[in-house]
Amino acid sequence: MTIRVVLATHNQHKVEEFQALLGESLPDLEIVAYDGPEPVEDGVTFAENALIKARAAAAHTGLPALADDSGLCIDVLNGAPGIFSARWAGHGRGDAANRDLLLDQLGDVLDEHRGAAFACTIALVVPEPGGTDAPAVEETVEGLWRGRLARRASGSNGFGYDPLFIPHGLAVTAAELSPAEKNAISHRAIALAAAVPVLRRAFEATTS
Ligand code: IMP
Repeated sequence: MTIRVVLATHNQHKVEEFQALLGESLPDLEIVAYDGPEPVEDGVTFAENALIKARAAAAHTGLPALADDSGLCIDVLNGAPGIFSARWAGHGRGDAANRDLLLDQLGDVLDEHRGAAFACTIALVVPEPGGTDAPAVEETVEGLWRGRLARRASGSNGFGYDPLFIPHGLAVTAAELSPAEKNAISHRAIALAAAVPVLRRAFEATTS
């Protein structure tokens, strides 16, 4: 029996990434993109924002819903940019401005203090059959990809902060990895692996 799950994103690329990674372990899962109204993401953690998006998609479609929220967390900035990663240099300024600001802010910080992590939280919300107010399942899982902030941008793959992020154990930035290499080890891959048992348990509970 196919289990259809809506993913709270308009990004078809993300739908394919979720389908490929979750489908390996859950072959009955079919991920579809959400095309309903977008909620205001006014949470102050990745988990809160992921839950806000998943709740909205579950409420609008009546389907089990997944959502993710992610960002870059720099140790010496106490976890910033964090939930503000997409707009660190200001709304609409873009990835290059965000990267330049971070490089400037960490200009005097020595290599041994440039630790960072990409974080991704995935939320699963399963609506109660019959559409009562309280969802049957609300869970979150997290993936952390440790590394450090480079001194300058390198590489042209990926997006966002990839050209600045040197993953732990590697000598190149995430933007110098191929998409397949990055997708096998990224924060999203780690969170998706953690989501598999949660999905399995949720579907066993709601279909039994
Ligand atoms: P979102 O939650 O996936 O929309 O990501 C929010 C922001 O975090 C993005 O706009 C990027 O600035 C940053 N980010 C999240 N994941 C990545 C990644 O894999 N590479 C580079 N930047 C990322």
